[in-house]
Amino acid sequence: MTSPQINKRCTFWTNYHCHSNYCDGKGAIEDYVKEAIRLKMPIIGFSSHAPLPFDTSWTMKNERLEGYKTEIEELKKKYMQDIEILLSLEVDYIPNVSGPKYFRNSAFNYLIGSLHYADQYLEGDYWTLDGSLDEFVKGVKELFEGDIELAIKRYFELNRLMMQQDAPDILGHFDKVKMHNYFRSLFSEKEKWYDEEIAHTLECAAEHDVIIEVNTKSLEKYNMLFPGLEHFEKLVSFGNKVTINSDAHHPSTLTQGFEFVARKLKKAGLKTLTVWKNGGWIQMEYSEKGIVF
Ligand SMILES: [Zn+2]
Ligand SMILES: [Zn+2]
Repeated sequence: MTSPQINKRCTFWTNYHCHSNYCDGKGAIEDYVKEAIRLKMPIIGFSSHAPLPFDTSWTMKNERLEGYKTEIEELKKKYMQDIEILLSLEVDYIPNVSGPKYFRNSAFNYLIGSLHYADQYLEGDYWTLDGSLDEFVKGVKELFEGDIELAIKRYFELNRLMMQQDAPDILGHFDKVKMHNYFRSLFSEKEKWYDEEIAHTLECAAEHDVIIEVNTKSLEKYNMLFPGLEHFEKLVSFGNKVTINSDAHHPSTLTQGFEFVARKLKKAGLKTLTVWKNGGWIQMEYSEKGIVF
């Protein structure tokens, strides 16, 4: 009896993972806000790459952090009749260097925790996980004696350490480390050890109440989702909280692939999506057209 009623209610998308020209995204924050309003999104969350204590080409510079907060606070007020704007950061987890706890304060509505770097080379640089294939392979060779299984296990272990010791609200791009398989087959995602890493990490997220985002950033270009479709049923069996984000680096990608992902999540048996409402995370019904508000 519920479906005719649901059909009368409105469906909308939300997105809690958006960059801008404060880091490596294209366009001003307001450009994303205007596009979100055009798409009738009730909520948008900004999660610029948090500053790191060393220089990178893609994180926000520390001296821009206050301006970032101020600009979002101003836009929150300017557009409060049209959309709820949330202030966040995508924080890198590097043990004893960076992590959600370095930014957890009342200014931020929530935090995304992600891995883009892992262990250090002897000369001090960090192993880049989601840069070029060459950079990735260099780390496997130099830090893991060429053992790809050990390298991948380390990635998932660090994700679990973050959730155990310094849990973010949302875990960023869950299995992004597999992206290099697109360019050259480095390992089989069908191996038992790999499936066990996926399962342990999803279990850990459920245990520590960390939301798993289905990240659609690479869907159009590489036909890749993080986590992949083959893991959607595990999200249901482990009882993970799930949201759909596009990791937008341009206003035109705010809801890219969301209908497809929602359809596949439904098919896997996921009943609700996790949505920010009235100052916290709640579960809401959804259809392939959006979250039912
Ligand atoms: Zn990221
Ligand atoms: Zn991101």
